This record gives sequence, structure tokens and C-alpha cells, in this order.
Amino acid sequence: MSADLTRLSAAALADALAAGETSSVEATQAHLDRIAAVDGAVHAFLHVSADEALATAADVDARRAAGEDLHALAGVPIAVKDVVVTKGLPTTAGSKILEGWVPPYDATLVERIRAAGLPILGKTNMDEFAMGSSTEHSAYGNTHNPWDLDRIPGGSGGGSAAAVAAFEAPLAIGTDTGGSIRQPGAVTGTVGVKPTYGSVSRYGLIAMASSLDQAGPVTRTVLDSALLHELIGGHDPLDSTSIADPLPSLVEAAREGATGDLTGVRVGVIRELQGEGYQPGVLARFHESLDLLRAAGAEIVEVSCPHFEYALGAYYLIMPSEASSNLAKFDGMRFGLRVVPDDNPTAERVMAATRGQGFGDEVKRRIILGTYALSAGYYDAYYGSAQKVRTLIQRDFDAAFAQADVLVSPTAPTTAFKLGEKLDDPLAMYLNDVATIPANLAGVPGLSLPNGLDDGLPVGFQVLAPAKADDRLYRVGAALETLLEKEWGGPLLAQAPELETR
Ligand code: GLN
Repeated sequence: MSADLTRLSAAALADALAAGETSSVEATQAHLDRIAAVDGAVHAFLHVSADEALATAADVDARRAAGEDLHALAGVPIAVKDVVVTKGLPTTAGSKILEGWVPPYDATLVERIRAAGLPILGKTNMDEFAMGSSTEHSAYGNTHNPWDLDRIPGGSGGGSAAAVAAFEAPLAIGTDTGGSIRQPGAVTGTVGVKPTYGSVSRYGLIAMASSLDQAGPVTRTVLDSALLHELIGGHDPLDSTSIADPLPSLVEAAREGATGDLTGVRVGVIRELQGEGYQPGVLARFHESLDLLRAAGAEIVEVSCPHFEYALGAYYLIMPSEASSNLAKFDGMRFGLRVVPDDNPTAERVMAATRGQGFGDEVKRRIILGTYALSAGYYDAYYGSAQKVRTLIQRDFDAAFAQADVLVSPTAPTTAFKLGEKLDDPLAMYLNDVATIPANLAGVPGLSLPNGLDDGLPVGFQVLAPAKADDRLYRVGAALETLLEKEWGGPLLAQAPELETR
């Protein structure tokens, strides 16, 4: 069975483990072998924790053999984005400034993953401090899109998305501040979910923009995302913005959706998130998916969110402002890198040298922008105005959700572009997130699932729901996935070119 183990969904692998058809050691080893065979070309991982993963797997196998009651995902291996702190495993957030740092504690979501017995395969590549849409801003080299190795895997969580798309891991953790779970999902043909703000603990995420950051699942199926989301989500007293209410039943919603029946569900098409700037093939797949939803019994309505056109502008003031403050702690004293200048090494000069050498250009760009936007005299004009726009965007969502149960749009305006193509044009890079950023500004949940190909490259479909109604994402996402896979005769990733193995 071992050659096929990497092709199974997490749910199917969990079933095989429960039925005793395979062991976690065998499944974990199969994924480690796959990483050894293809990650030289993909470079999804910054660190592979083979020994630790196998030790966890052996422990779970022993507990299963002893008849212990285990979590549904026990023994299913997982990859974790390198912005999430992991006790004893190097954590760099894709930055030189954290090179060599080994955290002394686990993020809450990692604690939950460990407690449930999921072997952690390793840490995945990302844009430095999660700033980017291509993973090219990583200080540790590019990740390559498994569909075409000359193309970007999206970002900032390109490593997690590529690992799952390349069958190196059935599950991964991503984080999404402006789209970093959903946009990589779209361009790699994987499923990604940004949960409702506050529904997955941020304790132990290296903060980029605290009012926007949210961790979530990266998987190959909608059901797998629901399973992982239920595992990592729910209240955490260590996160002051954590929601106290329990999560809605996500797995149940995914299973219900998988019947393909959406009778009575109102789907709102966001007028402002289509048209100019969107690749024709992306729009064509979007409209075909709407036809499928209609055929499944959904009522399709058009909604308008007039302030979404200012979302990108507001985001690029709020996010850098918060990031400039969050990144102040990397001062050469506490974590990772310390650069000591030869002459007159005062504390201030050590900090300046460490930050000068430790941060990449994109991070510096945003720290400068954020510091400026927060400075006395400019605060009201920039940060203050952006916060007002944020309120208007939240009101747009409220009005739209009065007319529809979920909202939909393409996830990203284009398919995967070539490595290097947008690297020297920050604004072109920022535009990748036009459709994903509004959800972060409003705190509402969003899911991206693959809905076809354009010119041989995956396209993503985005579903958005009101805050705390993440179950709707899974119901609608699973229904669309079922209908699409009926057309394709199986998962879209089965159509991806075979990677050369070594
Ligand atoms: N691409 C966006 C940015 O560069 C979003 C990043 C993210 O979600 N972490 O800020």
C-alpha cells in the first residue's frame, strides 16, 4: 500500500489507519520518502523533522494497538508553516533575522496537533514574515509550483500549499493576513481556509498584523480542511482576541455539502470582484462554477460591495502599521541573529546592524511605510482613515450578507505567474490579493477550492461567510467540489504533471 499512501486524502488515510490497513509509521515514512524524492525540485520545506515525526507515529501506533481512544486524525502527518512556533524545531518565519532560533514553546494550535497525535513532518517555506504573494521574499530560496516548476506557488504560504499539492503532506497549516492561505491554494489547486478572526488561536504565531492574522488549514479536499479546522480551532485563554463560543459543526457541514444539494442556499456574487484585471480563463471557470451551484439548487444573486475598491489601499496602511510595531522586537538582543559592528558596538548600533542585515527589502519597505503612517501628524490622515475604510468594508459585508448566505468570487485574479515576473514591482505583487483582503479587514471566514484549469494551471474559487458561520463555507465548498469532481472524473490534482523523483 505504501506507494499510494501519499495520494490519499487525510480522511481516507485516517480511515485506513483506524481499519488497521496501514500504520502511522508506514504513512509517515511514505511522506518522508516523497519529500526526499521531490523536495529538491519543489523546495516546500525549510526543515524536515523526520526523527521526531517517526517517533510520534510509533507512539500513536502503539496507543492504537493498546486500544486507546484516538483523535480522528491521529497518525496522519502534517506540515506547519514556519511562522508558527514549534518547541524544539527551528522557526524562522522565512527570515535571516531568526536563523538558528529554536522556540522554547509551542503555539496553541501546535499543542493541539501534538496532543491529537499528528506527526509533524517539518516547517514550510514562506515569504519573510508572511509578506508577499509568491514566496519569493523568503530569505531561504524560492518554492516552486508543482504544476510548473518555473512558476510561483503563491504566498506567503507557498511552502504549505506546494507541499500538499506535491503529495509531500496530506495536511498543512497556513496563516492568512491578506490571502496567504487562499491565494496559494488557488494557484496550486489545493483547498485553503481562513477561519473567522478569533476562532483559531494566534498564540504562538509570529505576528505580522495582529488584527488581521489567522491560521487555518491547507489540504487537498474540503472535508480534510473541516477536520483540521475543528482540531486547531476553538477558544484559547492565551489569545486575548479568541472567541469564547464553540466552533460550528464544520465536518458535519462538509459531509452534508458533499451530497451536492444546495437547495435554499442564497449565493451572492460580488460585483466588484470580477471584470477588469481578472484573467479571462479565471472568469470563465468562475461562471461555470456558478452554473453548477445553480444546478445544485442554489439561488444566485448579485450583490454590490462598493467600498471593496479601497480595501487594498486600507490594507497596505493597516498591515504595515501593525507590522512595524510587531517587528520591533527583533532587535538582535532576544532572538536569532545578532550582528556586532567592529567599531563602537553600542546597543543601538548592534540593533541597527542586525536589522539592516537580518531583514529583507520587502520587510524593510513595510516597516518604513508603517512607521511613517503611524507618525505624529500623519496618523489621522493614514492609519485613521484606513480604519474608517475598514468599517465601511465591514458594513458592505453586513449589507451583502443580508441578501445572501455566502458570497463568492474568484480567489485570485490570475493563475500562477512565472518566478521573477513580479518581483521588482511591489504594486503588481500586492494586486494578487484584491479578492482575498476584504475578508481579513472584516474578520469574516473564507475558503478557496480549485475549480478548474486555465492553460494547464489551477484556478481558485472563493466562498465567504459571515463571522462565526464558517460551517457555510464547508457546506457550499463541499457541494461544489463534489459537482466539479464528477465532471473531472476525480480530483483536479490527479491532472497535475508527475514530478521527477530522485
Ligand atoms: N500577500 C499579502 C501580503 O503580502 C498577504 C500576506 C498574508 O496573508 N500573510 O501582505
